[in-house]
Order: sequence, then C-alpha cells, then structure tokens
Amino acid sequence: MAKKAEKTIEEKLKDLVALQNIYSKLDEINKLKGELPLEVSDLEDEILGLEKRVARLKEDREDLEDVITTQRMKVKESEALTARYEEQLNNVKNSREFDALNKEIEMQKLEQQLAEKRIREAEEQITAKNAVIEESEEILKSRQADLEVKKKELEKISAETLKEEKALAKKAESKRKGVEERYLKAFDRIRKAYANGLAVVIYERDSCGGCHAKIPTQKQVEIRQHKKIIICEHCGRILVDPELAEAIA
Ligand SMILES: [Zn+2]
Repeated sequence: MAKKAEKTIEEKLKDLVALQNIYSKLDEINKLKGELPLEVSDLEDEILGLEKRVARLKEDREDLEDVITTQRMKVKESEALTARYEEQLNNVKNSREFDALNKEIEMQKLEQQLAEKRIREAEEQITAKNAVIEESEEILKSRQADLEVKKKELEKISAETLKEEKALAKKAESKRKGVEERYLKAFDRIRKAYANGLAVVIYERDSCGGCHAKIPTQKQVEIRQHKKIIICEHCGRILVDPELAEAIA
C-alpha cells in the first residue's frame, strides 16, 4: 500500500542481502562468544573435579601415614617387650617359665614382623598415591592455565565486540525500515528456521546455497534478471545471484 519511493525488485533484493550480511556478522560474533562461556564453565567444572580428586588422594595418603606411625609404635613396643623377656630369660627358675618366656618372645617377633609388613605395604601405597597425585596436579595446572587464557579471551571479545554489536544492531534497525513488512516477516521466519541463520543465499553451481537443491534453469534465469524475488522451492530461502551479492559485500 505504501507508495513512497517505489523500489525496484533489484533494490529490494539488495536490501535483503545487506540485511542478511549485517545479521550474519552479528551471528558470527555471538557464535564466537557463545562457545567461549561454555568452554570456560566446562574447564571450571573439570578443575573443581580435579581439585576434589587431589584432596581425596592426599587424605588417603595421610591415613596411610597414620598407619605407618601406629605400626612403628607397635614395632618399638614389640622390640621393648622382646628385650625385656630376653632379660628375664637370664633369671628363669624353671623350664616352664623358660618355655613361657620363649613363647612370648616368639609372639612378639611375629607381631613385629606383621607390623613391619604393614609399614612396607603402606609405603608402597603411598608411592603409588604420590604418582597419581603428581599426575593429577600436572593436569590441574595445565587446565588452570587453559582457563586463564579462555577467560582473558572472553573478556577481550566481550569488550571489543560490544561496540561492534551495537553498531550492527543499529545498522540492521535502519535497514529494516527500508524493507517491506512481508519480506521482513519472511526473512525473520526463515532466519529463525535455520541454525546458520541464513534467509538470503547465493545460488552457485546451479544449486541453492542454503540447501544445495538443484535450481531449474528457468529459475536461474529469473534470479539473474532481478525482476522477481525467487524463493528456493526446497528450503524457502531467498535466492540471489553472486553478482548482486558481491555488489553489496
Ligand atoms: Zn534451498
């Protein structure tokens, strides 16, 4: 209905291409930012997990150290008892007492051996734990370094792009004013329908640049004539020829 400054189809197509270019740039910025926050939070999760793992391993190691301390005390105790019993052997009065003392000594030696075995086992376990702790701490360090880099990258992108985003949004807004409502509606609808956000595509090598469906020769001619707005029969995207797209790029 609006009959202000009647635009030619070619001009309308150019507006749509320009609009698409603006939105594609915005999409690119958002994509760049969109992956980084996720990568940052993934790294933060992984670091938290690693920190917990290292803490748990260190607790295990402390428990093992406690085992060693206790068993060393037992060794000392057994040694002291053995020494005492051996001393008493010098003053035995009868063979029954002699046998009883020898039995005690033998038992203390077995106790001592058992304690020493437990110490060795705990020491071996500590060595194994240390290797795992060291390995986990290495990974942790490298993840923390990655996180620092990603965080800085994100901060930089956010600061740098904010201005650009605002400028592009403003540009899109003013461009939209020059495009007919029905085209805008179609444009927005198609853009939303596809993950790559492309509503206007170039046809190349006889195919739609959006869905790669073959375009009939007659349609190709029409696209090049810029007399009609041609829609891909398969994906609904607006088709333009490379020359026209290049004129605005
Ligand atoms: Zn298509």
